[in-house]
Amino acid sequence: MNNVNASIITIGDELLIGQTIDTNSAFIARALNEIGVWVHRRVAIGDQAAAITKALDTEKEMASIIILTGGLGPTADDKTKDALCQYFGGKMVINKDALQQIKKLFEKVYPNQQQIIERNLQQAEVPDVCTVLPNKRGSAPGMLFSTGEKNKDFKIFISLPGVPYEMEGLITDEVIPYIQKNFDLPAIVHKTALTAGKGESIIAEMLSSFEKDLPKEIQLAYLPNYGLVKLRLTAFGHDKQTLENKIEPYFQKMLSLVHDNLVTDKDEELAAVVGRLLIEKNKTIGTAESCTGGYIAHQLTAIPGSSAYYAGSVVSYSYEAKEKILGVHHETLLNFGAVSEETVTEMARGALKTLETDYVIAVSGIMGPGGSTPDKPVGTVWMAVADANTIQTRQLNLRFNRQKNIEITAARALNMLRLFICERLV
Ligand code: AMP
Ligand code: MG
Repeated sequence: MNNVNASIITIGDELLIGQTIDTNSAFIARALNEIGVWVHRRVAIGDQAAAITKALDTEKEMASIIILTGGLGPTADDKTKDALCQYFGGKMVINKDALQQIKKLFEKVYPNQQQIIERNLQQAEVPDVCTVLPNKRGSAPGMLFSTGEKNKDFKIFISLPGVPYEMEGLITDEVIPYIQKNFDLPAIVHKTALTAGKGESIIAEMLSSFEKDLPKEIQLAYLPNYGLVKLRLTAFGHDKQTLENKIEPYFQKMLSLVHDNLVTDKDEELAAVVGRLLIEKNKTIGTAESCTGGYIAHQLTAIPGSSAYYAGSVVSYSYEAKEKILGVHHETLLNFGAVSEETVTEMARGALKTLETDYVIAVSGIMGPGGSTPDKPVGTVWMAVADANTIQTRQLNLRFNRQKNIEITAARALNMLRLFICERLV
């Protein structure tokens, strides 16, 4: 079976000047990879017809699936639709379904506005040589052009809006099913596990002979993230069931090799693992957050159904909040500072009392760039996890920027809580 190759072209001046981070191509690449399409190139270009034409000429030489995003807005700086119309030799016509969708959208969003303005109606215009892909989440429809014939140099060109939410809906509902129906794709099976507590290189050492002995149709990928390492085994072949049977013993072997560091044998986030543990054991949790400002609460509440076990957070950023809401002693703060083992211990005790949960996490740290003292550099963090009987504390010395320090603190605290719960529930 030949590889089916894809190119992703993201369009927008904002991408080239760094104003918008190109998240679209990452989403599309992931979705294509999952169905066995190999993305061989990702290109970002500006909003210019000539650049779009040139990119299409180049990419179609190497790929049979070319996906473009961006430049479909109602303003003059969006050039993609006209460029595609010219490229494929069509003329603009109003698409009835797209027009209907725009009218529906406007009635919903602007119920009091009498008329839709011309500029928005124009979004229902598409080249008459394309197939329209309905955009249920916005006004600019997706467009599909094709050249060649099935099994004979068949190529598709799909243009999608730049707005990530709209693009994602179109990829999931329209593009992926279309590609699966019209291309001969390999079967592909992924099996994912998550580890914590050891860095990527140590995990790679633990798996080195396992990896060497993998058959060529099974690949191992390491995806490190904030002290956690995702391990993904991927098998390519002709038949999904055969692949699943083939990959399973390798996956089990891999799990046994990383057993002491294993968080989950599913493709899920740490907060979801913690949530599942709490549900299984019918326990609740609350958080007392200083330096993470509610980020741990955000991670926990991003999991659907978290209300079953998550009570809430005290974002106690100031001395006053730590004292008034959590009952941290003024002397503790004066004598040891807000970033200290003594303070997080009192924060944890206060949170247990205030939030009335089985477990709590408390964190306090210096996230940077300012705020350091000679004995507490930026990146100093104290964390505590506790239940009514026990408190465990831990110090971190992080070395990243503010945002990353916050994210790592949240991941470490959640993992500390996970281990704390596991130790107590055996
Ligand atoms: P457009 O379809 O060009 O009107 O894009 C609308 C908006 O989508 C832009 O203002 C960006 O904020 C966003 N956007 C466009 N391209 C991308 C991309 N590749 N990744 C993430 N966001 C994007
Ligand atoms: Mg644009």
